[in-house]
Amino acid sequence: MASAASVKSPVSIRPGKLLIDNRFVDAASGKTFETINPATEEVLTVVAEGDKADVDKAVAAARRAFDGGAWSEMRARDRGRFLYKVAELIDAHRDELAVLESLDNGKPISETSAVDVPQAAEVFAYYAGWADKVLGETIPASPNFFTYTLREPHGVCGQIIPWNFPLLMASWKLAPALACGNTCVLKPAEQTPLTALRLGELMIEAGLPIGVVNIVTGFGPTAGAALAEHRGVDKIAFTGSTEVGRIIQRAAAINIKSVSLELGGKSPNIVFADADIEAAVKGAMAGIFFNQGEVCCAGSRLFVEEPVHDQFVEALSAHAKTIRVGDPLDPATQMGAQVSEEQFSKILGFIDDGKKSGAKLVTGGSRAREKGYFLQPTVFDAVRNDMRIAREEIFGPVVSTLTFKSVEEAIRLGNDSDYGLAAAVWTRDITKAHRAARALRAGTVWVNTYNAFDTAMPFGGYKESGIGRELGAQALQLYTQTKAVWVAL
Ligand code: ADP
Repeated sequence: MASAASVKSPVSIRPGKLLIDNRFVDAASGKTFETINPATEEVLTVVAEGDKADVDKAVAAARRAFDGGAWSEMRARDRGRFLYKVAELIDAHRDELAVLESLDNGKPISETSAVDVPQAAEVFAYYAGWADKVLGETIPASPNFFTYTLREPHGVCGQIIPWNFPLLMASWKLAPALACGNTCVLKPAEQTPLTALRLGELMIEAGLPIGVVNIVTGFGPTAGAALAEHRGVDKIAFTGSTEVGRIIQRAAAINIKSVSLELGGKSPNIVFADADIEAAVKGAMAGIFFNQGEVCCAGSRLFVEEPVHDQFVEALSAHAKTIRVGDPLDPATQMGAQVSEEQFSKILGFIDDGKKSGAKLVTGGSRAREKGYFLQPTVFDAVRNDMRIAREEIFGPVVSTLTFKSVEEAIRLGNDSDYGLAAAVWTRDITKAHRAARALRAGTVWVNTYNAFDTAMPFGGYKESGIGRELGAQALQLYTQTKAVWVAL
């Protein structure tokens, strides 16, 4: 495998510092931590280890910026112009950002350059358009009053993001919050802080008013926890595990912060016997192996109707074996490295557990390369819905295949999960498809497709998969509150 260093790239990796008040500074403690290239297990650079003291400073900066009004009271269309400029700068630096993301996360360059970076730009461009369309209402309550509503920003938003789509998750959080006039403190995941910091630089280049976006790198239980429980934070938005989501929600209770959570999933991907099987196999592959399976809405429970089960599993495992796992910077690579040693070991632990619990390992199941956190695409068959590999989020390239005999059974088993982030059905029967779409308790239902996304479509979870919807017009609800105004006439 070509090492990252041997690949010609336009990236210069600088040591990471915190971004507070538009200045890149060291952590108050002076501490740093290493960020690792998961493809080589080598250190990429060191990053400032922010903690409570730094979060205090960042929140104070965001508060000053909000109260000062330079942002929240700016003409809304000018906020939009700024966001559009950020989108253009992301586009202008797309090669650099794609390489940086692949180095830090381990995902293939074909994906960072086709998905992560262009979609991040698109999110900023999309919310640029919304900035001057955050509308209140006039309400005919009584003839003796003029009554209307204002949609106002919350104030200071704390935003904690995961490592699976680092730049894109930063964009999902920052763009709508800023469009609505909030100021932000962003805490990237400790595994993948680099693209968020580069985004911060680009925002300054785009004309970021002082203190409107602050970025504190550091660990979850220190920097993240300090942000979640900070009394100076009005709204907390989090994407990550359900386990940490619970901690965030509890911490937010301290000052009754508005909370939005986008959490884990164990999404059912249901293939009926009347489906276009070839398309469904491709969809199942994309559903579980895209981004090394590090996708909260991954189709990790694959339900195949009995008559087509054998044929389906055979085709799926044959395709899985052809996936090119390798150097994330090689354009031909289809699956890169898992993000960290911790995740890599956790996934191998799940594979072991699956084998012990009696599921049948059809293909994969081992590390794919000697060095780096590479795994083989893995297919389990004969899984029961009560096994750990069918209940818990693995967050890796491991699919659990189950069978069913009727529509009712498929829906019942599909819904038999603590999660409810996404679901998919594959069928040529339009009635069956729409009935299933209604019956599945999930925030997104895909019909004859998987992992389809658009900035304009809301995304979020039912049940323990979250609270609130990101993207689309719905994200404006997350980042505003409504004021009712009564004027006596
Ligand atoms: P994973 O377990 O997949 O790494 P997490 O949910 O732990 O995902 O992490 C998502 C984000 O939440 C990261 O930015 C991480 O630092 C942060 N985080 C982890 N633990 C806490 C915590 N106790 N309080 C606040 N943030 C946290």
